Amino acid sequence: MKNNLYIYNALNRKKEKFEPINPPFVGMYVCGPTVYGDSHLGHARPAITFDLVFRYLKHLGYKVRYVRNITDVGHLVNDADEGEDKIAKKAKLEQVEPMEIVQKYTNSYHKNMEQLNTLRPSIEPHASAHIIEQAEMAKKILENGFAYEVNGSVYFDVAKYSKKYNYGKLSGRILDDLQSNTRELEGQSEKKNPFDFALWKKAMPEHIMRWPSEWSIGFPGWHLECSVMSTKYLGDKFDIHGGGLDLQFPHHECEIAQSKAANGYDSVKYWMHNNLITLDGQKMSKSLGNFIMLDEMFSGDHELLEQAYSPQVVKFFMLQAHYRNPLDFSNKALKAAQKGLERLMNGISALDKIKPAKNSSFDVNIIKNKSYEALNDDLNTPILIAHLFDGIKKINSVIAGTETINENDLSELKALYNIMFFEILGLTNDSESSSSNGKLDDVMNLLLNLRTDAKKNKDFETSDKIRDKLNEIGITVKDKKDGFEWEIKQL
Ligand code: ZN
Repeated sequence: MKNNLYIYNALNRKKEKFEPINPPFVGMYVCGPTVYGDSHLGHARPAITFDLVFRYLKHLGYKVRYVRNITDVGHLVNDADEGEDKIAKKAKLEQVEPMEIVQKYTNSYHKNMEQLNTLRPSIEPHASAHIIEQAEMAKKILENGFAYEVNGSVYFDVAKYSKKYNYGKLSGRILDDLQSNTRELEGQSEKKNPFDFALWKKAMPEHIMRWPSEWSIGFPGWHLECSVMSTKYLGDKFDIHGGGLDLQFPHHECEIAQSKAANGYDSVKYWMHNNLITLDGQKMSKSLGNFIMLDEMFSGDHELLEQAYSPQVVKFFMLQAHYRNPLDFSNKALKAAQKGLERLMNGISALDKIKPAKNSSFDVNIIKNKSYEALNDDLNTPILIAHLFDGIKKINSVIAGTETINENDLSELKALYNIMFFEILGLTNDSESSSSNGKLDDVMNLLLNLRTDAKKNKDFETSDKIRDKLNEIGITVKDKKDGFEWEIKQL
């Protein structure tokens, strides 16, 4: 499979040519959500970033297996291996079973991801369904001498690992600095060093999510699930591991250490991270009150929002920044994105109105080549979008009569916008709920074509009935010379 794609490999801190281990197959693992609450803006960026990677690799002809996990056990309130499980804490609060929490917020995550028109992963494994494999990996690390057991818990021995391997190679952190910077927290005394991390934790009596193991009744450490589930579904060595930049340390660093300690090698060829989101220049946090849920974003129901922003606007806004750059949300920037998206969509619809000329006054291939060049340069969507806007300028000039395009170039241009806008960027031409409204268009066309047929056959009873019934449910139909128009009546 030929491609000119370069992606930034965080492991080597440079752009590298994308060469999958076993083409045409590509394995991609992305850290998914811990499902203990509704999804916020921070969930959207990795989903959109790796949806783009997934879509583009498929477009290039690869057979991509995209695995994104659901963390439903082992992610503790305090990342230093102490405190309650986030899921169990929420379950107690809502007085339901932990797995009800998992189901509820997995459903809500899926709903939001669908609104954003991201494709579903090929496999979506749950950490709680892979406890045995996680215990097995912990045992292997223990047997290889890179972990130790204390009071029924098993910890990864970072200092010992560092004697043989390079702990910190992904994040660039140095063990000596970690040593002086890691605070000794209460209850951590059973660890040899504060930066050691849990592979297995003995469950305290109040800890309700628990499984038997040879060390204790307990639960696996958070970092283990991704090492286990990625290789279970993608093989010992696979192509891409992705996630948010906030997961680079300690989560991904620990994943690398676990794989090396268990198997002697890192399983991942390319590590990719999307950068984070700020709001009006500030980090999103519950304490600052600027934590915006996706549902709030789409409804406008948040004191910081001046209006609602549709899923497609939010998505377009994110794609207007390169995934490795930080992205600041503000009403001003979102409104600009909304206008930009409208302009782009109007231009794309205008393509259908163009009457081709004999000759073209500009070269469609230049727009096409530049678009691919942008994608091949580490998925540079802001540059791609800039080229798409340039194309729209040309389209508008054709409509204004200052440029011309021939039939062949026109169909090339239509195909290009279809590929770039809909297929690869995964945008839709609808600002509300994409999938259901897209279907509504189809249904309406079907119904109104039947009505046109009825009129042609002088069956006015049927044609009027269709129009009147639609009117009753709030859809107005206007007959035009060359067809029809319909719209949903605004209440
Ligand atoms: Zn992970």
